[in-house]
Amino acid sequence: MSRFWSEVARGLSPYVPGEQPRHPRLVKLNTNESPYGPSPRVLAAVADTDGDSLRRYPDPDASALRAIIAAEFGLAAKQVFVGNGSDEVLAHTFLGLLKHPRPLAFPDISYSFYPVWCGLYGIEAQRVPLDAQLAIDVDAFPADCGGIILPNPNAPTGRLLGLDQIERLIAGHSDCVVVVDEAYIDFGGESAAALVDRYPNLLVVQTLSKSRALAGLRVGFALGDAQLIEGLDRVKDSFNSYPLDAIAQRAAVAAFEDRAWFEDCRRRVVATRERVAVSLGALGFALLPSAANFLFARVPGGAARALFTALREEGIIVRYFDRPRIDEYLRISIGTDEEMDRLLAAVEAWCGVGG
Ligand code: PMP
Repeated sequence: MSRFWSEVARGLSPYVPGEQPRHPRLVKLNTNESPYGPSPRVLAAVADTDGDSLRRYPDPDASALRAIIAAEFGLAAKQVFVGNGSDEVLAHTFLGLLKHPRPLAFPDISYSFYPVWCGLYGIEAQRVPLDAQLAIDVDAFPADCGGIILPNPNAPTGRLLGLDQIERLIAGHSDCVVVVDEAYIDFGGESAAALVDRYPNLLVVQTLSKSRALAGLRVGFALGDAQLIEGLDRVKDSFNSYPLDAIAQRAAVAAFEDRAWFEDCRRRVVATRERVAVSLGALGFALLPSAANFLFARVPGGAARALFTALREEGIIVRYFDRPRIDEYLRISIGTDEEMDRLLAAVEAWCGVGG
């Protein structure tokens, strides 16, 4: 701690994201990245970048990208906000739409960044416990909160709420903003984007980091009523007038243009997920139903930490959460079939199958 730190810096602890080990032979199943590269059209768009487009400032409105996202969801461009990963979009949302005198409600357990932003921006947090099956209970959210945010599917559990439940939550809290964080929606869920035109208090946030394999490019977006988007624009403009760099804007457009690639990648991830779920189930794991690109599995005997360590020694990195209610579970990202076979072989050996 330096004497030069402000009150704000003193009050924060560093956020520790999932590790990004450099070892080439590692099987990295800890941060829910896509195992498949982005569309070749994305790579071509990056390679085609010329000096002129780097010399100049990028389009401050990200017009082409916002137009293609709007078309994708049947909305108008003024209902679309883009930013550097959904983390940045969410951070602006906390400051621009969720900081109110009344507390912000979110599920406990859910995305670990929510309490971090509450701390950063001085927002009171109201935690709404998951039910006994580790599912979000939409009826448990308090009537008088200043805002609601929830991931759907939830992270790290992977459990999905149906659109009817999401709609009940939005309709029942018409006096505050409800943010649905859909980082994993493309792996089995139905997006609340279809409700945006009907509910002025709904903001849907998505990312290109998972189903579109562009975590390294940092592109996320929000969909909502034009007035909500204007609130986000005001906050963004006070940080940086350019939402995304020029390369990210071009590459993200190309990602939306290649629908076939997107469909194929997500179909493969879902097929692998279902296969691995069956195999882990046969080994005695208890799996939560997953609509995401990861599995959340209770390790036999609750020995999650021991298995996490054993896998690490084999060069396989998964995610262990040292916190009550989920400390007997591992979150396992879905990799290629080959990577998952390596995982299953290591788990079988640890369980003593055939040995
Ligand atoms: N929301 C949830 C629920 C997530 O799990 C993540 C990624 N870990 C994000 C948002 C942020 O993703 P990104 O910033 O890469 O778009």
